[in-house]
Amino acid sequence: MEAKEILEQVAREVANCEKCELHLSRKKSVPGEGPPNAEILLIGEGPGFYENEQGRPFVGPSGQFLDELLRSAGLKRADVFICNVVKCRPPSNRDPQPGELAACRPYLERQLEAISPIVIVTLGRYSMGHFLTNARISSIHGRPSWVNGRLIVPMYHPAAALHQPSLRKDIEADFANLPKMIIMARQKLADDQSSKAPVKLSEPSAPFIVEQLSLIGNDTQPEEKPESPQKEEPKQLSLF
Ligand code: URA
Ligand code: SF4
Repeated sequence: MEAKEILEQVAREVANCEKCELHLSRKKSVPGEGPPNAEILLIGEGPGFYENEQGRPFVGPSGQFLDELLRSAGLKRADVFICNVVKCRPPSNRDPQPGELAACRPYLERQLEAISPIVIVTLGRYSMGHFLTNARISSIHGRPSWVNGRLIVPMYHPAAALHQPSLRKDIEADFANLPKMIIMARQKLADDQSSKAPVKLSEPSAPFIVEQLSLIGNDTQPEEKPESPQKEEPKQLSLF
């Protein structure tokens, strides 16, 4: 099945799903939307009031803020796929419960598999928790890591950041760095595809490789000046 068909199928199933009690208060389910071949996927928490009315993700005030953040990263909403960890609105916007997250998880998994994005931006801790367990968002926001061949970029939730000046500064800075991360992910994908070596390097491979290379360089060319251009590379990568 093509990605588009899988996404349509998921949307149909979600519309009638009764796998957790969130279906009881649902007006419209919110499966998510965007291009089936999106390179970048954003995952929020769950539909709020406006999303439950319209059946579309991030259409309320936090959606307007998300649009601004995307623009600051040179992206348009139409370029990215946006969805949530739970597809039906938790009553009064309460946190989704473990059983609800578990019940809804297979839908997100199928969406991820169909779209196969190279960069996933998680918005808030529930979305981050789907990929990174035991991580603290205050420590790792804006710091990407590779998980199963995809670059996971944890960010604060726009609704939380909208009204808290310190978080707002953080999320704006993190989105401003997103273009660099996208370029890095594209580069790694291209490198992986052109590489014939069957051995998979464990993470974090890139800074480690650069260190190894510069060591080899020093051994074989002892006369080389310490400030060789290679020395610049770990600095670039240290952002990640
Ligand atoms: N907040 C979310 O996490 N998701 C939405 O779709 C809207 C608000
Ligand atoms: Fe089904 Fe997910 Fe909605 Fe629960 S939140 S009823 S699992 S679609």
